[in-house]
Amino acid sequence: MSHHVPVYINGEFRQSFSLEWLDVTNPATNAVIARLPCSTEDEVEEAVASARETFKSWKEVPVPERARLMLNYQQLLKEHHDELAELLSSETGKIIADAKGDVWRGIEVVEQAANIASLMMGETAENIAADIDSYSITQPLGVCCGITPFNFPAMIPLWMFPMAIAAGNTFVLKPSDQVPLTSIRLAELFKLAGAPPGVLQIVHGQKTQVDYLLAHPDIRAVSFVGSVPVARHIYQTGTHHLKRVQAFAGAKNHLVVMPDANKEQVISNLVGSSVGAAGQRCMAISVAVFVGGAKEWIADLKTEMEKVSPGAWNDDKAGYGPLISKQAKERVLDLIKEGKAQGARCELDGSHCEVDGYPDGNWVGPTLFSGVQTDMSIYQQEIFGPVLVCLEVDTLDEAIALVNANPYGNGTSVFTASGAAARKFQHEIQVGQVGINVPIPVPLPFFSFTGWRGSFYGDLHAYGKQAVRFYTETKTVTSRWFEDDIPTGPNLTIHLR
Ligand code: NAD
Repeated sequence: MSHHVPVYINGEFRQSFSLEWLDVTNPATNAVIARLPCSTEDEVEEAVASARETFKSWKEVPVPERARLMLNYQQLLKEHHDELAELLSSETGKIIADAKGDVWRGIEVVEQAANIASLMMGETAENIAADIDSYSITQPLGVCCGITPFNFPAMIPLWMFPMAIAAGNTFVLKPSDQVPLTSIRLAELFKLAGAPPGVLQIVHGQKTQVDYLLAHPDIRAVSFVGSVPVARHIYQTGTHHLKRVQAFAGAKNHLVVMPDANKEQVISNLVGSSVGAAGQRCMAISVAVFVGGAKEWIADLKTEMEKVSPGAWNDDKAGYGPLISKQAKERVLDLIKEGKAQGARCELDGSHCEVDGYPDGNWVGPTLFSGVQTDMSIYQQEIFGPVLVCLEVDTLDEAIALVNANPYGNGTSVFTASGAAARKFQHEIQVGQVGINVPIPVPLPFFSFTGWRGSFYGDLHAYGKQAVRFYTETKTVTSRWFEDDIPTGPNLTIHLR
């Protein structure tokens, strides 16, 4: 039974007046589970206006009180962890353990937002000139907005609105049109935690609604996570309208395997990080670079990959779920065909994958290519499916050069027993998140999520201290208090000391 997804405006969940509706489907069955409105212009306008009005009072709420809202919220999210994960599984197809991880990674950011007071502290310098002190304070920007992708329906919205709102802003969220249900539930729990009406708004839709937000004069900052072409559009349009923009984009993450690494560790980590979540993670490993004799391990890698199969969210034996949509599956199958046509060796082909009881799901089995060259489309494009491509080089220098020549810079990893090799890799690699014997090095929220180059447009990253800087302005005060009333007369020059 499908239901109509509400918008969330000024503290109320209500039905949209839109005449344009999209289907939300369960990717394991392609059954329609909800109908999603593309919010009308009036609704988006109302959401922004309500956020602008609410900002006037919300920014005056003392910071410990804003932090306490986040304490309540993280507690509620923990109490509803399982329920949120099941909902998230229904719209993404993620297996339940992975769905719980998605929610948990978001909860960790809310825990961080509960620490907002110390994160917002400024700096002080006494006596910067005779009797003069100087200090900085941080203040919220105003109305911020977030546009989120399908692949982490809990974690990525939670990267954004808790930090922005804890910092004193109000927020308009436009969740992925493919997975809007989790966002609505996150908002219901936020309201239950005590969030005043208007601090968080949710509107739905696609390009039209996003473009409206990007051009809106009352939106001060835009956080985006999604694919490369859309990230570019968001960054260019948002900055054109003179907004602060952070746009997290696609990736092609390499794992470099040195011949001195532990073979079993390499193989199990490569399997998990490439096909886990059906490869639909921006930090998934999609390229393995075997250095020297390590290439002999590809046969054993194939044996281990073959043991993994996709399945339904509640199937204990399933390694991962379906792809998000029929179109996503077709795109991945086309890339697999291109890989074969361009001369790569398809060691394991997941193109013809079936799952018992789910004949209509968007299944793709684990797929492994060896002998891949950098000019092949399976190397050049982000596949975003359970497909691992293997390249071979002779030296660590060549591996580093290969990674650095790739336009993306989200994550990378090296597996080695050599501290010197790891240190060299860490220092020379042009990628923002580096794992050493760790395949998916996603930073916890006390750091920031720091993709580089083609994987990120902007300068201040998500969560951690950088998010606080992104969602605030710094004001610097220079102050002098006169001890007596003796007039000093006008000062017409710059003081040298
Ligand atoms: P997407 O770019 O298709 O959609 C992202 C959001 O943008 C959605 O809310 C969507 O409704 C909206 N949108 C789509 N087309 C638009 C347009 N033309 N104009 C304005 N808005 C538009 O991305 P997706 O398929 O949902 O997510 C997968 C992508 O996200 C992958 O490329 C993945 O690497 C990337 N991703 C990156 C990170 C990161 O941190 N770098 C994290 C997660 C996902």
